[in-house]
Amino acid sequence: MATAAGLAADSIPGAAAASRPEEKTQLATLLDISKCIGCGACVEACNETNAHKYPIPQKPFPKMVPSRAKVSDWSDKRDVTERLTPYNWLFIQQASVDINGEETELTIPRRCMHCINPPCVKLCPWGAAKQLENGISRIDPEICLGGSKCNAVCPWDIPQRQTGVGLYLDILPNFAGNGVMFKCDRCYDQVEAGQLPACIDACPEDVQTIGPRDEIIKQAHQLAKEMNGYIYGETENGGTNTLYVSPVPFGALDDAIEKGKGKPHLAPVSDRMADANNLAAAMVIAPLAGIAAAARKIYNYTRKTQEERA
Ligand code: SF4
Ligand code: SF4
Ligand code: SF4
Repeated sequence: MATAAGLAADSIPGAAAASRPEEKTQLATLLDISKCIGCGACVEACNETNAHKYPIPQKPFPKMVPSRAKVSDWSDKRDVTERLTPYNWLFIQQASVDINGEETELTIPRRCMHCINPPCVKLCPWGAAKQLENGISRIDPEICLGGSKCNAVCPWDIPQRQTGVGLYLDILPNFAGNGVMFKCDRCYDQVEAGQLPACIDACPEDVQTIGPRDEIIKQAHQLAKEMNGYIYGETENGGTNTLYVSPVPFGALDDAIEKGKGKPHLAPVSDRMADANNLAAAMVIAPLAGIAAAARKIYNYTRKTQEERA
């Protein structure tokens, strides 16, 4: 079983912090790319553990509004594991690189980076994406309207949309978005219960370590020093709670991996929120979040009344 940065699984700092807003410790994960054998046990464990959170869309889908909005339907492609989808929150990227003159295959687990200052959370117009005190960012499927703003502002194209599910069906059937966004929530419920995220627990090679970010940063530097390697995530997008250490430069890895929709890059990323802070203030996020909360209340009240009458 993978260890939690020298901590027992039942004493992960931040597990309790999710319910203690005053605690500011952010939990980070460290992934040692040199250890990963690409077995896929983490992907399987993620799918098994989080299957109950996956969307069950209503079909046929209502008419898309506006009509140019595209249906995004992964419900018949749940077995796709070579990219991120609403039904696959973690996948293994492959890179063929030169290490000391030898062609070497590296495998890299990819999922949400859990940014310290996440644009997906800060710029969601409906307040559907939240960051927990322990640094986990998650999208609430009961509030999300699938407008993809989080995907547009995410430097790594992480959140993925499923049509035919969510709040828009009940209260805003003609609202643009037409679905819900899904991504890794770093097994927030398991962490709250003092358990390790499933992908960390399942890994036979102990590729991932989890712990307070300052400790993880120290470990990342120590590891990078030992392998004469490189770090990704310490400063990217202003810093993330996912740090990779690689024996080859990330520029070489980025050149070697397949990139595209649902297949994030490993290139340098400047701090998006540093540029976006003024923009965010101009996005009237708070009033819209208020509208969303009010709409949700009305929806919950209506649903409860309907259930009582039934
Ligand atoms: S379970 Fe571990 S070794 Fe296997 S692919 Fe995932 S991170 Fe790599
Ligand atoms: S990687 Fe993207 S989805 Fe994940 S926290 Fe950062 S901005 Fe949000
Ligand atoms: S932390 Fe949890 S949700 Fe995220 S990739 Fe790992 S198993 Fe999946």
